[in-house]
Amino acid sequence: MKKYDVVIAGGGTAGCACAYIAGKFGLKVLLVEQNSFLGGSITSSLVIPAMKTADNAINTEFFDTLYSKLERAGGAITYCDGNKGWFNPELVKIVLDEMMQEANVEVLFESCIDKVEEKLSGYNATIRNNNIVYSHQELLPLIETKYLVDGTGDAKICQKLNCEKLENEKFQPSSLRFIMSGVDVKTFSDWLIEFDKDRNVTTSCEIDGKTYLSTACTWDSGAKWALRPLFELAVEDGVLKNEDTNYFQIFSVAGTADSIAFNAPRLLDSTEDRSKAYINGRAAILRLSVFCKKYLPGFKDAHISSIANSLGVRVSTRIKGKYVYTAEDLRSGKTFKNPVVVSNYPIDIHSDKKDNSVLEKVFQQYQLPVESLMARDNLFVIGRSISAEFEAQAALRIIPSCFSMGEGLARYLAEKLSDL
Ligand SMILES: Cc1cc2nc3c(=O)[nH]c(=O)nc-3n(C[C@H](O)[C@H](O)[C@H](O)COP(=O)(O)OP(=O)(O)OC[C@H]3O[C@@H](n4cnc5c(N)ncnc54)[C@H](O)[C@@H]3O)c2cc1C
Repeated sequence: MKKYDVVIAGGGTAGCACAYIAGKFGLKVLLVEQNSFLGGSITSSLVIPAMKTADNAINTEFFDTLYSKLERAGGAITYCDGNKGWFNPELVKIVLDEMMQEANVEVLFESCIDKVEEKLSGYNATIRNNNIVYSHQELLPLIETKYLVDGTGDAKICQKLNCEKLENEKFQPSSLRFIMSGVDVKTFSDWLIEFDKDRNVTTSCEIDGKTYLSTACTWDSGAKWALRPLFELAVEDGVLKNEDTNYFQIFSVAGTADSIAFNAPRLLDSTEDRSKAYINGRAAILRLSVFCKKYLPGFKDAHISSIANSLGVRVSTRIKGKYVYTAEDLRSGKTFKNPVVVSNYPIDIHSDKKDNSVLEKVFQQYQLPVESLMARDNLFVIGRSISAEFEAQAALRIIPSCFSMGEGLARYLAEKLSDL
């Protein structure tokens, strides 16, 4: 039986940060990922860029290392607002492989934890992986670990161990993101800057001879969406359905001269039936791509170059841990003895109903305590399924905060082990 200090289920946003930092501390780490690549939402759901967070964020070694390696590989830029989170998702896959090797993290792809059992001081688990296909008998490898970390985004390991869950009093729709390439970004940007005279949500800048931009348009009133009349026209023309206009946000892709990433379509009925959401999502992607080619200058020769492998899930199961972090803690900027995250990102709740989404600014920095990652003795949860109230999670789920909580937990575990 193989023995580890830390086993992490889920090589996504938070899981990779935890594995890398724990490995750097010399811990024996196993990272178990169901996909054939690392990065989770960033790579598999095409969630780019990482949102900008507090200038004095803590636990940023993983982010900084990822950024500098990606930048050297031509896969990251610092946008004109100072945000270093503009990553190229394909290069993220390659750089994360490299980082895990550098930190001596053992990675198992196409693998899941099958059965898991709590011991006196740690956990035993069996791993189900693709290698089984080549053997005639089902001999699932058995492992033993001192600490088990659930970074699956949906608290799948905690659920196997019957941990108590928190209620989702509201829900947030998922999105199926995609990328279009072959866009004449310069032509589009020049047109957009002229078209969005108020420059309420549109930004653009030149970096290393390439044009980068960002804009948005939703069906909510309250912001001056310059693109709004074009969406209305497209609905009238039968190119788009009204529901396609509910959320549209686009960004150029770091390191490319001609690619635009879409934070859309946002799927209004995506919680009940994920299979249906994929089918509806891909149909909406086709409509949105036709809309872009027809109504947006610079898109005439563009094509859909990538559709996310996985639905982008904003919130699903959250665990009731040692400390349930509240929206009041967040709003009041409560401080804690062992913070793992410092952020000022707003409470960001996407709604399935018009004029119901929330983007509530917070007026001070807030801290997330390590106790909100403690599901049980020696069992931890990181990423979007942490022990936090619905509204608090809606602020904490962004990529930099997930990186920080993964890294903060790794530091905490390394210290615990050194005390033993
Ligand atoms: C549509 C959408 C748009 C967003 N936009 C932004 C944005 O612009 N900027 C920003 O900063 N944040 C954004 N976010 C938030 C952010 O991307 C996510 O909340 C964050 O990446 C979640 O990280 P995580 O580690 O919890 O999960 P993930 O990164 O999803 O990682 C979970 C990992 O676990 C793996 N896994 C699942 N089950 C198993 C299993 N049983 N065994 C092994 N592996 C398993 C998955 O394959 C995956 O790799 C967005 C989120 C969504 C959904």
